[in-house]
Amino acid sequence: MRFTHETLPQRVVFAPGDAATAVAAEVTALGGARVMLIASAREAALATRIAAAVPVVLHHDEVVMHVPVEVAERAREAAAAAGVDVIVTVGGGSATGLGKAVALTSDRPGGLPILAVPTTYAGSEATNVWGLTQGATKTTGVDDSVLPRSIVYDATLLSSLPAQLSVASGLNALAHCIDAMWGPRVDPIDQVLAGEGIRRLAGGLPVIAREGPLVEGIEQTLYGAYLAAVAFASAGSGMHHKICHVLGGMFNLPHAQTHAVVLPHVLAFNAPHAPEAERRIAAALDSSAAVEGLAQLRAAVDAPRALRDYGMPEEGIARAVGPVLAAVPPSNPAPVTEHNLTALLRAAWEGDPS
Ligand code: NAD
Repeated sequence: MRFTHETLPQRVVFAPGDAATAVAAEVTALGGARVMLIASAREAALATRIAAAVPVVLHHDEVVMHVPVEVAERAREAAAAAGVDVIVTVGGGSATGLGKAVALTSDRPGGLPILAVPTTYAGSEATNVWGLTQGATKTTGVDDSVLPRSIVYDATLLSSLPAQLSVASGLNALAHCIDAMWGPRVDPIDQVLAGEGIRRLAGGLPVIAREGPLVEGIEQTLYGAYLAAVAFASAGSGMHHKICHVLGGMFNLPHAQTHAVVLPHVLAFNAPHAPEAERRIAAALDSSAAVEGLAQLRAAVDAPRALRDYGMPEEGIARAVGPVLAAVPPSNPAPVTEHNLTALLRAAWEGDPS
């Protein structure tokens, strides 16, 4: 066995029902005296409650999905003007993403540490990946300065997430696990984390879909989402993420739903060419085959089905093929051609017949 695995340095606190206490302790540990609190208007009241015992000098609520560069620039200017020393983000991947954009461009000596308090299953809090969108092009990059130094997970914060969004966001996390199985830097540790992530997500999501936002189902899913993000950060973006990034930037599609729709198509595409990954995914889904296991889970949670339902135009299929082809890692298990990629995108656009 020969591999190199890098473990990212980060504190992770699971504190169900106790985010405010945990956040105060983490801000103190980070030495924060002038905190920037990033949360969208929708999450503003929640964020204020969570940060009640924290020295907040700047509330910033301009949070936009896929982080447009002009939004990032306004946030960076506000942070510099207020002289902030710690960023606390409360929200989904969009709030975390804005915090990362501010940290990335900050010229504060020693950097600008982030404490992330996630309210979706997106997982951005556990990666050193940033994303910015200029016009219709989304760019992502890797930089250790954007890795949150601390995460506080409080399952009760996700009980307000609508069921459909919980399902889509949880399937976004599942996509981290599955894409990690054949990511360009995948190693055996990533595969173990991804396998356990799949197990937890497949255990928790049907509970949320069936019984509503019970803390038990949310906790399983949240823990799975964390494992998923750690595996994904180490293994790197595979074909699935390249497709979703191109589509998300080009057509301004909702992130979680796009992942949820595309995932079964990429799994069916790659599984026959990745037997070991296929076995691991099938086992984690408690199924004899990965594709069937995912289909059963998707049926149990009433998963999003078609890209056309989320605003992607049909002519967008042809437009997306070139940029995706250029981005798919050469190590992808199945060979990718203009022809088979067009067929995959068309199937995802038209919708999963299951
Ligand atoms: P989001 O953060 O935009 O949240 C989706 C919607 O849910 C928003 O309207 C938000 O206000 C609402 N919401 C969030 N939490 C809620 C709650 N608990 N209750 C009720 N409503 C709630 O979407 P997302 O899917 O979490 O994140 C998507 C973004 O994150 C994308 O830009 C994506 O590229 C990025 N992302 C980055 C990484 C990374 O590693 N860098 C990983 C995953 C996602």
